[in-house]
Amino acid sequence: MTAPTPLIAGNWKMNGLAASLAEARAIAEGVGDGPARVALCPPAILIHRMTEVVAGSKVLVGGQDAHSEDSGAFTGDTSAEMLADAGAKLVILGHSERREGYRETDGLVARKVRAALRAGLEPIVCVGETLVQRKAGDALAVVTGQVRGSLPAELAGRDFSVAYEPVWAIGTGLTPTTAEIEEVHRAIRATLVETFGAPARRVPILYGGSVKPGNAAEILHADEVGGALVGGASLKAADFLGIVRAL
Ligand code: PEP
Repeated sequence: MTAPTPLIAGNWKMNGLAASLAEARAIAEGVGDGPARVALCPPAILIHRMTEVVAGSKVLVGGQDAHSEDSGAFTGDTSAEMLADAGAKLVILGHSERREGYRETDGLVARKVRAALRAGLEPIVCVGETLVQRKAGDALAVVTGQVRGSLPAELAGRDFSVAYEPVWAIGTGLTPTTAEIEEVHRAIRATLVETFGAPARRVPILYGGSVKPGNAAEILHADEVGGALVGGASLKAADFLGIVRAL
C-alpha cells in the first residue's frame, strides 16, 4: 500500500487582511515542487482573493470551519458549498478552538464533515487532548474516541486527513516528544484502519501544535506523521516555507 502523500496546511485563524495576501504570494512563489501538498486556510473572507494570488502554484486554499447544514437561517455562518464556490478545496473541521469556544461535539463535527463532503471539500479533521487529560493518562483514549466520533462512515473512499493537535501545544511553544507524537499517531492509524479498513493506511495524519522551521524536520520525519497543520508559523512566508522545505 502506498504511503500517504504528505500535506502541510497553514491555519491563519482570525489573522490576516488583504495586505497579508503578499505572504500568500511569497509562499506560492517559493513553494517549489517538493513532495508535500501545500494548503493555506485564511479567514473565509480572504479565500477568493487568495485563490487568485496563488493561481498557477501548487498551493491549495482551504476554509477553517463550515456549517453542518447546506443553507438556511444561520446568521453569520458560512456553508461548505460557499467555501467551495469561493475556490476552497479543503476545510479544517473540529479545531480545538471550535470545540472549546463554540462547544462543538464529535457529533457536530461529524455532521460538518458530511456537509464538507457534499460540497466536494476535503476535510482536515482535528483531534487532540488537553493537558489535564494527558496528565491523567487519558490522551490515547480521548484522541481515539474523537476519531471514532468525528469521522462519519461517508468518509470511506474519500480524500481526508486527520490532524493530531494536542490542545496544550497550540500556540504555546510546547510540543510533545517525538515518541509521544508517534504513540498517538500510531493509535490514530489503528483506529482509522479498524474503522475504514486497509485503504485508511493512505490517510495522512498531520501533527499540529507549535510547529516551527526549527522543529519541523524531526516532527515531519517521525513515524506515521504525514504532514503538519501550522498556525502561527504559517503567517510569514519565510517560516512556512522553512517548514515545507523540512520535508
Ligand atoms: C493550530 O491552531 O492549528 C496550530 C497548530 O497553531 P500553532 O502552530 O500556532 O501552535
